[in-house]
Amino acid sequence: MYVRFWGTRGSLPTPGRHTLRFGGNTSCVEVRTANALVIIDCGSGLHNLGRALAQTGELPVKGHILISHTHWDHIQGIPFFAPFFRPGNEWDVYAPRGLGQSLHDTLAGQMQYVYFPVRLDQMGAKIRYHELVEGDFRVGDVKVRTQYLNHTALTLGYRLEADGAVLVYSTDHEPFSRQLASGNGPIQGQDRRHCEFLADADLVIHDAQFTLSEYADKVGWGHSTVEYAVAMCREAKAARLALTHHDPARTDDAIEGIVKHVRSHEPASALDIFAAEEGKSLELQRTNKTIFADEAPVSRTPALANPLILMVVKDPVAADTIRGIAREDDIVVLEAAAADEALNLATTAQPSLAILEWGSETADLLARQDVAARDIPIVVVADEEHHSAEVVSDWLIRPFSSAYARTRIRACLLRTTCRWERALTSQNEEQRLASLHGLGILDTPPEERFDRITRLAASIFNAPMASISLVDRDRQWFKSRYGLDAVESSRETSFCSHAVASQDVLVVPDALQDPRFSDNPLVTDSPRIRFYAGCPIFVGPDCVGTVCVLDSRPRQIDDDSISLLHDLAALAELELRKPHSAME
Ligand SMILES: [Zn+2]
Ligand SMILES: [Zn+2]
Repeated sequence: MYVRFWGTRGSLPTPGRHTLRFGGNTSCVEVRTANALVIIDCGSGLHNLGRALAQTGELPVKGHILISHTHWDHIQGIPFFAPFFRPGNEWDVYAPRGLGQSLHDTLAGQMQYVYFPVRLDQMGAKIRYHELVEGDFRVGDVKVRTQYLNHTALTLGYRLEADGAVLVYSTDHEPFSRQLASGNGPIQGQDRRHCEFLADADLVIHDAQFTLSEYADKVGWGHSTVEYAVAMCREAKAARLALTHHDPARTDDAIEGIVKHVRSHEPASALDIFAAEEGKSLELQRTNKTIFADEAPVSRTPALANPLILMVVKDPVAADTIRGIAREDDIVVLEAAAADEALNLATTAQPSLAILEWGSETADLLARQDVAARDIPIVVVADEEHHSAEVVSDWLIRPFSSAYARTRIRACLLRTTCRWERALTSQNEEQRLASLHGLGILDTPPEERFDRITRLAASIFNAPMASISLVDRDRQWFKSRYGLDAVESSRETSFCSHAVASQDVLVVPDALQDPRFSDNPLVTDSPRIRFYAGCPIFVGPDCVGTVCVLDSRPRQIDDDSISLLHDLAALAELELRKPHSAME
């Protein structure tokens, strides 16, 4: 795994003679593996990386961009990234999912006409956007794990495993427990979890914007101390630590002084500490230490259709802050006066999150078995953490700012286990798409010869909805639809995608009971699908789509009905193979 730093500065680009050595550009790291190009963060360093990619002359350029969060110093290079302007190039952009607007809209925001002459959608390359929560997924030969960091915006750290090496990128991040800013003290709770995220890494690139002596004035700013970064990496048994997100006021001499100072305090340590330096590259050797369990390459996204918070907080200041956050994010708050009442509400209202205030009553409540069993994330407002309370997902330690509480609450909501899986893509996806596109049928007008099949399907199954759905790269498009309003829908939420991936009939008797679909927006929201049966349509060896029937009530179907569905799919196949120009 090859790693190169293109931007190491935090907050603001700082060119000048005092930053020549470690660099003045904001965050950007290039990672290359045997078959993937991955860029982490798009600060101003991205500009030079883009120029370097353009100079190689290799076309098309395909790559993946992982964005930690959308603060300006992590996205400001995007408008100046040459490979985004070139038609034929393809990029997949990943960033944490927000509650309000989409990733695309957030990135497009900094390119509105008043700020920049070219809009995001006018750039020539094909750019796909992916919104992430915590979890595992794969880009090329790289396994990626994400975990929320502690910052003033919703921020993800990235752990990359490929070529037998492990790289962790972790900025912007503040110690969860403020005592740990000194690097001393027990590592517990969320900090312990952070440490596990760094475990056995060959290289950790970690936020180290402040030193301990500076931190007293910067509590709550969302950044680490050098001391904390070192302590975490030491505990995690990481091999190397690159200190990054250098404060804009930090000169080259000051950075050298800091590195010298921490090294002198770690004389016997196996940890190799250095400061991230613009232009510096390194090759991570194959160590094969910890490669995380090979989970199915599925990224999960919570539906968050109607987030509901249950709150039992008597402290008027804290309660008001939380009410304000909820109003801003369209979250409904159910308030209860006492823990018992809260427990009753939790059973009936099924909140996404419970926020309680620490006290003897809460402690008793949290000790009860039925709370743990209920699987609701619990955030506790308190003056200090109580590590005995294991069911607590997160702590809001007083005093806290509204911005801080907002990120913690959002992170907790987004972390809520979600029951919705995206379908896998097949191994021969490119060939499958070539077959589909070769039909020349996508985006053609409705035709009676197909509409007759969906009409028949709806009638035979007595179902309110039926379609002939073709699964394109990012969407499913309906050649014919009966009882459905949309012309197409996103592939991410598509039921048919699952049938196409398995190349087999898919029957979902009750989507609400099925962990693959119960939180799918097509189930939780209009058209509120409960029943689905789809049969694949093949062109040669390639499965291009399905004939499917849908219902808003759960139901069962028998084998005879399934064979009828096969017949309908065969009819659709026949029609698809006819050259459609001859039909006009
Ligand atoms: Zn930053
Ligand atoms: Zn930031």
